[in-house]
Amino acid sequence: MPEDTNKGLAPLNRPLTQNERNLIRWLLEHSNSNVDHLLSQLDRLSVVEKCTCGCPTVYFAVDGEPTSRKGERLIADYLAEVDGDGVGVMLFETKGKLSSLEVYSLAGSEKPFGLPAIASLHGYDGIPKIHNQPYPPNFVSFATQ
Ligand SMILES: [Zn+2]
Repeated sequence: MPEDTNKGLAPLNRPLTQNERNLIRWLLEHSNSNVDHLLSQLDRLSVVEKCTCGCPTVYFAVDGEPTSRKGERLIADYLAEVDGDGVGVMLFETKGKLSSLEVYSLAGSEKPFGLPAIASLHGYDGIPKIHNQPYPPNFVSFATQ
């Protein structure tokens, strides 16, 4: 039966991967908000849900307790590349707990992709040529739906 899998979520229960951990740490250290207090949650974070569209978006629990996404707040917003394609990377918290890491294709590609390398992360200033396309695309955060 055909389903709209693009916006689906799959339950999961696993620790952070090293790549996730490194990326989240980088985003916390480069947030415009003062989120130093969230750094200590890296060791207490696990993944309890993931997006099923092929992107690496994941949702967190702190100390095994899934973080509510109601009232989520964006704490870091960057651009990056994965295999030469532009992606957006956003980190969210809810009431002082890390809630989700969203990674989305700027071009709206439906091809599965992984996390960007830290070295490819950059802000909205000095956007490389690859991002000549208008930004943002018709992106709607899963979290706000
Ligand atoms: Zn997705």
